[in-house]
Amino acid sequence: MEGIKENVLLSKYSTFRIGGPARYLIEVSDPKDIKRAIEKALELNLKFLVIGGGSNILFSSEGYDGMVIVFNSSNNFLINDNLIEVNASISLNYLVNKLDSYTGLEWAIGIPGTLAGAINGNAGAFGVEISELIKQVKVLEVKNKKIIEREFSKKDCNFGYRNSIFKNNYNLIITSAILELEKGNTEEIKKNIKNNLSKRILKQPKGFSIGSIFKNGDNFSAGELIEKAGLKGKQIGDAKIAEDHANFIINLGNATSDDVLSLIKIIKKEVEEKFLIKLEEEIKIF
Ligand SMILES: Cc1cc2nc3c(=O)[nH]c(=O)nc-3n(C[C@H](O)[C@H](O)[C@H](O)COP(=O)(O)OP(=O)(O)OC[C@H]3O[C@@H](n4cnc5c(N)ncnc54)[C@H](O)[C@@H]3O)c2cc1C
Repeated sequence: MEGIKENVLLSKYSTFRIGGPARYLIEVSDPKDIKRAIEKALELNLKFLVIGGGSNILFSSEGYDGMVIVFNSSNNFLINDNLIEVNASISLNYLVNKLDSYTGLEWAIGIPGTLAGAINGNAGAFGVEISELIKQVKVLEVKNKKIIEREFSKKDCNFGYRNSIFKNNYNLIITSAILELEKGNTEEIKKNIKNNLSKRILKQPKGFSIGSIFKNGDNFSAGELIEKAGLKGKQIGDAKIAEDHANFIINLGNATSDDVLSLIKIIKKEVEEKFLIKLEEEIKIF
């Protein structure tokens, strides 16, 4: 298949800038091409992994012995009144800015990555989650080396806090989604988008990261616990717990996946010892 590259550094495909070589990598934006890429991986007996913007993934510095399929860069969506059918490889930020006559997505400004990545992890901010806007998700299911096209209703997606049916099932590939949004006042929507972006810029640490490492709980903020455990600023190799937001780890330049995993291990141990709370990762580790 045209476009398949060999030995490609995954650090280029993660906002963390960490990751060794993928044996094979292909970038696609059309659902038909993602299907062909998966068929190719199955034909070659390779394990495969579909990613979007790589903004919630810690790749191993050892690399990935299979085919990484990067599904991003589309700008296709189709408006039918309040229902908007979107190619899931679209950048979430692009979508927020393009749909500025519809209200409901303003909170998502500044979240890196694709719509598919956001659906996978039920991304959210300012108390809203992407699941609230989902009407339907189109999926490719890989089963017994066959690819089946399926349509999932919102209920089928099993959304929870930073969770969905897709999060731990790599054989369910999101290709497009129907969002339900309400018409709104463009001027007001633009103002809200701008305000949300300003708030984000103020509170979000600078540097290479993959967002919050751990999930918050019903009655605790992971960042606050890490801070209370005295771990802010702790550094291993080039990986550092952010000074201004303890739930972020920053790659200062040459961090390895082991540096990050060591920090994660220390955080979990200290927080459990001090507060009897087991932190759970929000990010995916490959
Ligand atoms: C600075 C910064 C700020 C952030 N702020 C927020 C925030 O406010 N709220 C929030 O929720 N998150 C936040 N994040 C985390 C991240 O941006 C989101 O989780 C985002 O939605 C991930 O999208 P992605 O395309 O980058 O996914 P990726 O990182 O590429 O993938 C994440 C997971 O989804 C899977 N996946 C990707 N595409 C598909 C597909 N087509 N089908 C099936 N599975 C797929 C991958 O295999 C992986 O398991 C932040 C990250 C950064 C770096």
